[in-house]
Amino acid sequence: MVTDLVNTNELTKIDPVFGQLSFDNHEQVVFCNDKDTGLRAIIGIHNTVLGPALGGTRMWNYSSEWEALNDVLRLSRGMTFKSAITGLNLGGGKAVILGDARTQKTPELMKRFGEFVHSLSGKYITAEDVGMETADMDLVRTVTPYVTGISEEKGGAGNPSPITAYGVFMGMKAAAKYAFGTELLEDRTVYVQGIGNVGEALVENLTNEGAKVFITDINSERLEYVRDKYNVNIYEGENLYSEEMDIYAPCALGATINDETIDQLKAKVIAGAANNQLANELKHGLLLRERGIVYAPDFLINAGGIINVYAELENYGKQEIVRKTENIYNTTLEILQNAETNDITTHQAAFEIAQSRIDARKTEK
Ligand code: NAD
Repeated sequence: MVTDLVNTNELTKIDPVFGQLSFDNHEQVVFCNDKDTGLRAIIGIHNTVLGPALGGTRMWNYSSEWEALNDVLRLSRGMTFKSAITGLNLGGGKAVILGDARTQKTPELMKRFGEFVHSLSGKYITAEDVGMETADMDLVRTVTPYVTGISEEKGGAGNPSPITAYGVFMGMKAAAKYAFGTELLEDRTVYVQGIGNVGEALVENLTNEGAKVFITDINSERLEYVRDKYNVNIYEGENLYSEEMDIYAPCALGATINDETIDQLKAKVIAGAANNQLANELKHGLLLRERGIVYAPDFLINAGGIINVYAELENYGKQEIVRKTENIYNTTLEILQNAETNDITTHQAAFEIAQSRIDARKTEK
């Protein structure tokens, strides 16, 4: 992978933005740089046909700028289809901040980032993602109104993660209904990979229903905390993909379903919160279908968070948030059945419905 931006030979070989595979007709990509605070961020605005591009900000210690660019492009594209399939009047966008959230995130850096968001005049609206907290969004709110996911004390809808987890739980139940004939998860073996904000809340939903839960994370303190709080098992093995399980729930980062893992997978259902779980949507979607593994499309079942933050823009309350999130169960079941009827992957089935909503709005305009 190319990391040295000064190497002009390499630059001529790979086009940095428009030539990226993940660049899929994005409307705008904004690079934000501030020497004083150390801010280096990229805002990706994929599509604004249905409304302003709303999507969270991720802070991650990327191994290269290319990795960060690829991530933001894939994530912002995913947001377009997530909002479209959920029936929200929002476009797709996302931001990444390059750096370690635990050591490099400062109030000054967050405010400076907020100023960059503000400079886009509402075309992009931010929220939290990996490495961000509600308190960070409160800081961004001091410099721009174009932010959601702010705390309830400050008039926001609060942390979206529990509602995201609830939506994932609904999607998982629908996939279980399709795969096993019952949506009850009691005694089902579920591996939750990544027990951060969403993963932990998913573990809570699962243990309340009596599922047998195994957890993994790169953060051993969190593992112990979640194990003790919910009385679940820490997975101690080397390779969770090859373990016997009913359901694999990826709740860390994307692309865990890839050339290396797909042949080993023993799960019958994949349903998790992580964005962009399929390293290659077409290829890996098809392989999952061939292997009879029921895949609940990520951008469909992890939409609880966007439903939650959308409430801040549309002024609807908790009851409507929960109603819309519970509807993920029905939509997931419909998509799984639709994929079977039309002999396409579940990802394609979800994607086509989302795309048709965008196309219909374009013709109205
Ligand atoms: P988080 O940062 O709170 O948690 C992520 C967890 O994954 C951390 O505990 C981290 O240590 C762990 N992790 C990282 N790499 C790992 C690996 N290789 N193996 C195991 N664990 C690993 O993030 P979150 O808010 O819980 O989000 C989780 C995923 O869900 C992300 O992909 C995010 O984009 C997606 N998502 C989140 C929301 C939301 O409302 N927070 C909404 C939609 C989608």
